[in-house]
Amino acid sequence: MGVKNAFLGRLLSSSDKFSDEQVAQTINLLVEHGVKHGASDIHLEPHERFVQVRYRIDNHLKGMHKLPLAALPAISAQIKDLAGLDASADYLPGEGQYATLVGEEQFQIQATTMPVIGGEKIVLHISRRLSKPLTLEQLGFWGPSLDLISHTLTRSHGLIVVATPRRNGRTTTMHSILQMITTPAVSIATIEKDIEYRLPGISQTQVRPNNGVTFHDAFRAALNQDPNILLLSDLTDKATGDLVIQAASGGHLVIVGMHAGNTPVALAQLRTMTNEEPFLFAHAVQTGVSQRLVRKLCQRCRHSITPTREELHEVQKAFGITSAAHLQQVHDLDKQAVKEGLGGHQPATSPTGIIHLWKASDGGCEACNFTGYQGAVALVEVLEVNDNHAQDALLGSSIPDKIRRAALKDGFIPMELDGLIKALRGQTTITEVLRTLSL
Ligand SMILES: [Zn+2]
Repeated sequence: MGVKNAFLGRLLSSSDKFSDEQVAQTINLLVEHGVKHGASDIHLEPHERFVQVRYRIDNHLKGMHKLPLAALPAISAQIKDLAGLDASADYLPGEGQYATLVGEEQFQIQATTMPVIGGEKIVLHISRRLSKPLTLEQLGFWGPSLDLISHTLTRSHGLIVVATPRRNGRTTTMHSILQMITTPAVSIATIEKDIEYRLPGISQTQVRPNNGVTFHDAFRAALNQDPNILLLSDLTDKATGDLVIQAASGGHLVIVGMHAGNTPVALAQLRTMTNEEPFLFAHAVQTGVSQRLVRKLCQRCRHSITPTREELHEVQKAFGITSAAHLQQVHDLDKQAVKEGLGGHQPATSPTGIIHLWKASDGGCEACNFTGYQGAVALVEVLEVNDNHAQDALLGSSIPDKIRRAALKDGFIPMELDGLIKALRGQTTITEVLRTLSL
């Protein structure tokens, strides 16, 4: 508690006169505090009497402290100045960036401002620069999902789609995939909205729509230089969609990012984002990858629970486990996960049902800052299109449900099943999976 109070004591209080230096120090303290707690975003929101400061940690917004409302204009003006925004235009939304140091490490801050009742809402998105992305295994890919991605990457052309809702670790996953195929023998170009990772040996371009550098122009320019592999962080328009399909059909391996909740939806959406022939499209797409982040149980203080009959029934119902074959599949995946060292040495299932589940410890422990959770893990799904039922479905339809049903025939493991296995392995909880996937 002492540390926290010292931190609060150094922030602006209502008795301050808000000198430039005090305001600058407060902004730095907020960012430092965010970095220390692993926050991805800091939200500053005007309320009736104060500015609420909240941190997004492991995808959860936490209200941490308050600042005097009268300081908001000065804070906003300084952040805008840092981020290269027009401080006088407080009636317009703004977006800019600046770099800052915390300790010896450099961080990139993306600042967005939005006029709201009572002032401006400011969001600072924090990303580390120059650091290496995590490996796919560290993110939550394992067994079947990892095998499918590795298999796709043995090909030298085609399209890999990585789809997530916002703030679900898509950039990291795209770069982790890229990392798997980066060798001095291949040339790689990336076109990115924000460059979060600087990777050696790769030419990275940041789009600047305000200066005329759009995704479409940058992708076309990169393509002219004929790289082996292209990464496009966001697919946003049809013209670029056409270029992507042409590139993937013409001997390039293309990795494209999209906003979508799961792979069947992403593939269906992608189909509507190109004017190219469905035939060309369905043959260009190799694989869809999707993920959502959930809170990871603290591995030190988590504990197992034996569910009641009713609870088991509820879980099976929620996850659509309706037959003996389903139960057997869950058991097989559980055993495979044990073999791969995913959370413990004993299966949590038998061939006929679930034996135990996991819970967060109420008071947590020191390792998890007394919350019961530590970090995040991705619930993942990988849908292989090439030469599969999914390819036939994509040829004839852009309906997610049809694509999903076709993929299930090929052994597709949807995200909710991956989530169930991760809950059984004590990586997360059933509640966390259900809440995140809105099941
Ligand atoms: Zn703990």
